[in-house]
Amino acid sequence: MTCGREDIKKWPVSKAVVDFLRKCEVHEDETLTQFCHYHSQLCCSACVGTIHSQCSKVTQISELTNTQPSGLEGLSMELETVLGEIKTLQISQEASIQSLQRTYNEHREVMIKQMCGNLNTYIDECDNNSVGTSGGNEQYLKEEMCRSVLSILNEFDNITAKELDEMKAEVISIKGSVTCSIHKCTSVHNDLSQFHEIVQKIGDHKELCLIASIKCKHIIQQALTLLGKSGKVFKVQSNTVHNVRIPSDSNSCHITGMCALPDGQVLVADRDNKRVKLLSQQYKVVSHWDVNAEPQDICQITPSEVAVAVNTSKIHEVQFITVNQGKLVPGRKFQLQHECTGIAHHYGDLFVTSDKELYKYTLNGKLICRLYEQHGSTDFTTVNKCAVSPTGDRLYITSNWHNKLLTLARDGTHLATYTDPALRGPWGLHVTPAGQVLVCGGWPYTVLQLGWEGKSKLATLATQKDGLRWPRSVCYSSITSSIIVGQLEDDNILVFRVE
Ligand SMILES: [Zn+2]
Ligand SMILES: [Zn+2]
Repeated sequence: MTCGREDIKKWPVSKAVVDFLRKCEVHEDETLTQFCHYHSQLCCSACVGTIHSQCSKVTQISELTNTQPSGLEGLSMELETVLGEIKTLQISQEASIQSLQRTYNEHREVMIKQMCGNLNTYIDECDNNSVGTSGGNEQYLKEEMCRSVLSILNEFDNITAKELDEMKAEVISIKGSVTCSIHKCTSVHNDLSQFHEIVQKIGDHKELCLIASIKCKHIIQQALTLLGKSGKVFKVQSNTVHNVRIPSDSNSCHITGMCALPDGQVLVADRDNKRVKLLSQQYKVVSHWDVNAEPQDICQITPSEVAVAVNTSKIHEVQFITVNQGKLVPGRKFQLQHECTGIAHHYGDLFVTSDKELYKYTLNGKLICRLYEQHGSTDFTTVNKCAVSPTGDRLYITSNWHNKLLTLARDGTHLATYTDPALRGPWGLHVTPAGQVLVCGGWPYTVLQLGWEGKSKLATLATQKDGLRWPRSVCYSSITSSIIVGQLEDDNILVFRVE
């Protein structure tokens, strides 16, 4: 058969493309021949015998082409869209690294300048005082001067240098996770590009089109997960309760904030007992740290460090705490000029809520801007908690008083409002690494999963029947695949195993 340029779709597909599409990713020497409906996965005969041996519906790919649409229309465009988004994400992640390093360098320079300033002021004072003195008196003044200079330097070493080291470690750790994410983006970008090219070359070959479209969908799903747009709906498998009260607690627990570390340990802010508690992977309290005021919320900074929003009528601060071998070790802190009731972190940017506003800070406590405010006739809280999407381009806030969940762009621009009779008095809020939005409702008691756009409800994960009673905080632990819920005046936390 001879085909002209106009019949490009009828050209035979090159062997390299066929081999690439047909190859099983698990068993390199095997060819994909079947499809498991339960896992929506292409399988070779070895896959069918092992991974999919229990799966009830496995069919030949050749049979499938009769029932499944095998056209590649739309796929090419979808690939292009996702490719563009991944590229944008990579650019913003590279910018995060630059900005982190800049923040640290600036902070270090300011601190060193301040110390030099202190030294100069002191030496100038000594100069003025020593005019007209001589002999033994001069010797005494010199010694006195040396002692004071040393004490200024020691203070710098003990406090400022320690804080700078702490920040440096944070910057290195965060840069590490950004770099890791950039690598994932690069790898997915390569896969997407490869398929984008291949899709143009398959022509009308039905079976190859079907294989390509199934493989593409998997890669697009991986890309969407990286983009925080996975849309995967959680299914609750089982739930348990765990007591987090300790003997020295004088009140019922009131868990207003929580955060799960990558190793499975969980930190909870027990507001009414003025304590931050560290829970083991089995949710037993293994350590606690007493706060000078009420801890309101917690967010993760690095795999072993968190920031706590601390607040009372007089104290508004962000306190850093490190988890070191099962112990909580307080680090630096910085003061705020406003209430500090909620906190979230994304690659060196800290987002803090203040009852009626949302602010953005750097890691060293420098105020960047106010992103949102909701003032009005009410004295009630209009901005409770905040959360940030995995890519940092969307911010979510709950407004208890207005019964709303708001979605904002990176710069504070309003993107969406979610209201629902099933979500009144929303409070605790959390976004998973794949971008799944979890929110606690006050009446009726509920934990919902919303879509990443903040426009629709995907699932009701828990209700009063599951033991909810004023849920106030929620978080997701990837390693234990669990959603953890903290409540008002309740010594128990609720743990939902999800799939
Ligand atoms: Zn296989
Ligand atoms: Zn299967």
